[in-house]
Amino acid sequence: MPSFGKKISNKILPLLSNDIGIDLGTTNTLVYLRGKGIVINEPSVVAVNQKTGQIVDIGHGAKRMLGRTPSHIVAVKPLVDGVISDFEVTEEMLSYLIKKAQDKVSKKILGPRVIIGIPSGVTNVERRAVQDAVKNAGAREVYIVEEPIAAAIGIRLPIQEPFGNMIIDIGGGTSDIAILSMDGVVVSRNIKIAGDKFDNDIISYIRDEFKILIGEKTAENLKMSIGSVIGANSRLEKSIKGRDLVTGLPKEIIITDSDIREALSHSISSFLESIKDVLEITPPEILSDVMNRGIFLVGGGALLKDLDLLLSNYLRIPIFIADDPLTAVARGTGVLFEKLDDFESILIHDKDELPLQK
Ligand code: ADP
Ligand code: MG
Repeated sequence: MPSFGKKISNKILPLLSNDIGIDLGTTNTLVYLRGKGIVINEPSVVAVNQKTGQIVDIGHGAKRMLGRTPSHIVAVKPLVDGVISDFEVTEEMLSYLIKKAQDKVSKKILGPRVIIGIPSGVTNVERRAVQDAVKNAGAREVYIVEEPIAAAIGIRLPIQEPFGNMIIDIGGGTSDIAILSMDGVVVSRNIKIAGDKFDNDIISYIRDEFKILIGEKTAENLKMSIGSVIGANSRLEKSIKGRDLVTGLPKEIIITDSDIREALSHSISSFLESIKDVLEITPPEILSDVMNRGIFLVGGGALLKDLDLLLSNYLRIPIFIADDPLTAVARGTGVLFEKLDDFESILIHDKDELPLQK
């Protein structure tokens, strides 16, 4: 389209269609509506009635049902390891979210334009699945962005400049470690060491050490309330209830911060190793930029206590936890909509030709 036509359509289109940004995370789904900001922030959980195939609830309501449903209702997480595990459920969830977001503004004639994030390193087939799901959910146009890029834009890193910018997004199912420069990913790795793994580590540790079985929610709660990765002088503790694996009866025990550190130690060392691996294959000029500018942490896992300190001690690189790290990707989609033309090269448009195999 000639630029004159483009300018006119840029003015008129917002009157006819909404712009919606979606961060479909493994743990949390956020929806950004241009002009309103983040309008939805809910757990990525869907409760489905298996008899009818219908969705009973989504988000907070569905999460409350996890592990508590009658047999014909199942609460599912549509994303596993950042990838769509159940296409139909994901599509229904997206339709629901797009509709719910649009209910907040006056009705538009055309379907929305949608920017949706995907983890770095997903295959073209997986990317196509996300694209199709958004299209089928009613979008007029779909743009795909790699999540570390969206997050970097969301926290206003100067990724368009010829400098290395490093960002680590620690989510629920996966973490993305990425180095960006000039609108592109220079090096990246997507690893399965993230929030869920930490929770499972805590469950295994308490089972092995105390012979007590606890649920995922209790484990996550321990991680957030008394979890840390560096020992401190003051001891933190929390009493929890679980099932005694010997007697089969409920039992209450006290867990301390050092228990959690011990539980997480193996995953944390692998996490450090993975970051080191990425740095080892980073071109030297870019590496020197990263050493000067530091590494930025986003995603819920960035809030794990003292992880920033541990990383800076180990890597000898300054570490910064982004403000409001859980919303970085969603905020990034908002910035992208404001400068869609500038960022054309980093977005994958649904009109682009995508080869089916990677
Ligand atoms: P995703 O993008 O995969 O949906 P999020 O960025 O929303 O993931 O992060 C969710 C993860 O962050 C969960 O595993 C959650 O337990 C973890 N998390 C959130 N807050 C904290 C905290 N204060 N300390 C440690 N982990 C946290
Ligand atoms: Mg995420």
